[in-house]
Amino acid sequence: MTNSDLLNVVKQHGAPVYVYDADKIAFQYNRLTNAFKSVSHLRLNYAVKALSNISVLRLMNSLGSGLDTVSIQEVKLGLLAGFKPESIIYTPNGVSLEEIEEAAALGVQINIDNLSILEQFGSKHPDIPVCIRINPHVMAGGNSNISVGHIDSKFGISIHQIPHLLRIVDLTKMNINGIHMHTGSDILDIDVFLYASEILFETAKNFKDLEFIDFGSGFKVPYKAGDIETNVEELGKKLSKRFNQFCKEYGKELTLAFEPGKFLVSEAGQFLAKVNVVKQTTSTVFASVDSGFNHLIRPMLYGSTHEIVNISNPKGRERYYSVVGYICETDTFGSNRRINEISEGDILAFKNAGAYCFTMSSNYNSRYRPAEVLWHEGKAHLIRERETFDDILRNQVDVKDIFKPKKETAVAK
Ligand SMILES: *Cc1c(COP(=O)(O)O)cnc(C)c1O
Repeated sequence: MTNSDLLNVVKQHGAPVYVYDADKIAFQYNRLTNAFKSVSHLRLNYAVKALSNISVLRLMNSLGSGLDTVSIQEVKLGLLAGFKPESIIYTPNGVSLEEIEEAAALGVQINIDNLSILEQFGSKHPDIPVCIRINPHVMAGGNSNISVGHIDSKFGISIHQIPHLLRIVDLTKMNINGIHMHTGSDILDIDVFLYASEILFETAKNFKDLEFIDFGSGFKVPYKAGDIETNVEELGKKLSKRFNQFCKEYGKELTLAFEPGKFLVSEAGQFLAKVNVVKQTTSTVFASVDSGFNHLIRPMLYGSTHEIVNISNPKGRERYYSVVGYICETDTFGSNRRINEISEGDILAFKNAGAYCFTMSSNYNSRYRPAEVLWHEGKAHLIRERETFDDILRNQVDVKDIFKPKKETAVAK
């Protein structure tokens, strides 16, 4: 998409607005598929929580993707978007047995990540095949909030609990058809990932009826110049070879599954916001945009860096800016950024805004959540309308009748 395409989206749909490039999503999907082309059964299950708009899910469906879901609502969205239940995997953490049973009744693949639920589910539904989420206790990932495979992590069944797990499976006669791990959000070191995979292969040997091994996700994408990204081609070469070898040992062609979220949609997204005020202080120049962490919380929540460019003045002289929002708390999107000279009314584009941006937005400060646009074959398609005042009031119950008018008090003269 060119700058003028983006400015046209703003002209048509206003700002702030999220824009997603469908071609980029397809490119990433095909890139990952190609990296594993020597595996005969590959399955990519897009992690819905990264970006869950139903039109994006339909795009994923058209690419041949499956879905990775973490809530019953995501399961229902996926079914509504046309996915067959068998191409959806449901990977909850700490949810009730009732919700898991509801998902199972819809026919999706269940993935269980603790022994308590495994025992209860297996006792009640020994005929429903279940995948188990293993925690290999391998530290991967750059941010402690999104590293989920380490020893203190709440995710997965510890490899040290395999004997207990096997006892439950044996006693309930349940069928384990898949094993899974999801170790973190940043695969920086392929060797560390391959090491965790070995633990998964070792675990897999305990189960006779596997259909798939799911290696989760954690593909790192570049957020700024000089960032390292996961070399998926190298990972594809090494893991495919090892996987094919394992299938031979196991005596069956298993499916190799991944659950990429960020890898598929992060770079496809841009968030466009208008500059309301340029404010010169004694220490810096602030550019305040008509947005805040109600729309894009990652910089404040994870300290993540989103590149910011001025698409209204791309040839302007570069100056240093602090880009901030309008929330009545500190909400700095970026400090000391070199950006082409900013005037009030300019449109700034925040890069890598496809994953965990809109889905984490809120109505904080009683602001509207922005519109979303999908760019497909040279055309902008509105896929979510900007909220209105009705959306702010929806579901609020106004109990005005319970408050008696305050008694008038005599005013001393
Ligand atoms: C969030 C999540 C993913 C996706 O992670 P990304 O880093 O966005 O690729 C995959 N699997 C599970 C179980 C998740 O919770």
